[in-house]
Amino acid sequence: EQRNPAQPEFHQAVHEVLETLAPVLEARPEYAEPGLVERLCEPERQIIFRVPWTDDHGHVRVNRGFRVEFNSALGPYKGGLRFHPTVNLGVIKFLGFEQVFKNALTGLGIGGGKGGSDFDPHGRSDAEVMRFCQSFMTELQRHIGEHTDVPAGDIGVGGREIGYLFGQYRRITNRWEAGVLTGKGPLWGGSLIRPEATGYGNVLFAAAMLRRRRGEDLEGQTAVVSGSGNVAIYTIEKLTALGANPVTCSDSSGYVIDDKGIDVELLKQVKEVERGRVDLYAERRGASARFVPGGRVWDVPADLALPSATQNELDADAAATLIRNGVKAVSEGANMPTTPEAVDALRQAGVAFGPGKAANAGGVAVSALEMAQNHARTTWTAARVEEELSGIMNAIHTTCDETAERYGAPGDYVTGANIAGFERVADAMLAQGVI
Ligand code: NDP
Repeated sequence: EQRNPAQPEFHQAVHEVLETLAPVLEARPEYAEPGLVERLCEPERQIIFRVPWTDDHGHVRVNRGFRVEFNSALGPYKGGLRFHPTVNLGVIKFLGFEQVFKNALTGLGIGGGKGGSDFDPHGRSDAEVMRFCQSFMTELQRHIGEHTDVPAGDIGVGGREIGYLFGQYRRITNRWEAGVLTGKGPLWGGSLIRPEATGYGNVLFAAAMLRRRRGEDLEGQTAVVSGSGNVAIYTIEKLTALGANPVTCSDSSGYVIDDKGIDVELLKQVKEVERGRVDLYAERRGASARFVPGGRVWDVPADLALPSATQNELDADAAATLIRNGVKAVSEGANMPTTPEAVDALRQAGVAFGPGKAANAGGVAVSALEMAQNHARTTWTAARVEEELSGIMNAIHTTCDETAERYGAPGDYVTGANIAGFERVADAMLAQGVI
């Protein structure tokens, strides 16, 4: 903490991983090599830069840009960009640290990184977002590349922003280098199913946990989902497709409960087309839905909870309510949405708990498939990508489950995910020497 002051999210993420590694450090003495764990916790490179841009009134605005290139032992740095006013170095480092283990778990050749800016896209015009993205990329372009560092989207960065970023990269470098960014549009190098992949993948992971731990499937299970962005929308879509009943969505203003189940087409119209808030969904939907200002979805009784908004959104209080209401599984679509106290409470109550670095790895996995398609200059069908995604999510589930069992913690996906991710990165780092 002295070395990295004022970075509570980063400390939380590192602490959560290190406290589960004791069994593997004991069992495999080569990992106790001095400096290995220290090197894992220190990013290879951290870039902080000025992002000046002009708003629609001609005023110059200045934001701060970040790219943390955390670990490239397994492949090029890979991880999203987040545009949100809460972004700072500690937030990006926590996300980059998580990304290293998550990417390792996918079994694909990708290292870990993360970036973003404290820019707030809410209420900004398209032209302002474009000028911001162009300024951001004018600096970022010198640090990234298809074999170096491959950013993608995250909170506040979707298809529109990736388009502006890619356009500026292409203009400055004069290269058609599709593999430098993922989450692109399907006409210009994007993979089908990439927008859906994180949400779909999380539902597949939750289904695998339910099957393994309780012998149940998703049919007829009520689910609470938080958020209403990319991850939440496609989580709701997949839950519905597999026979579950997602009854909530939310944003920072409150949540919607819909007794008939969220109508995903209406939600897409409100969020993706009109860029509105969730209260507009409730207004349009009619009698079955109502908006609860300032409330939290965790108060709604459900069999499953899929937090899909942001870090530390599900605290001990919320966990106690979920447990009281008989929740069977919690699967993290967002990164670190569950506080450490809440994770402990859920695990002690026997709730199946899927940590984000396993459960939401479907997004980055399909990003790696997008890179593969770009390198081969080809496009796979949606059906093929979905089949690959399903195989990857089931493999991640099995890896976490078996690793947890092997290290004496059966059913503990947190321990399983952390150890399995650690083993892959650590083995690659040891083989490559002290660098
Ligand atoms: P979006 O920007 O599309 O959506 C974010 C949603 O979360 C919005 O509904 C937003 O509401 C809400 N939200 C964000 N910050 C807060 C906050 N501080 N308090 C309350 N609500 C908040 O982002 P994504 O759906 O892409 O990302 C959601 C989560 O999933 C993040 O944790 C991200 O890191 C994680 N993730 C995303 C992946 C991807 O492929 N996109 C991959 C793996 C993980 P509002 O509009 O009011 O801010």
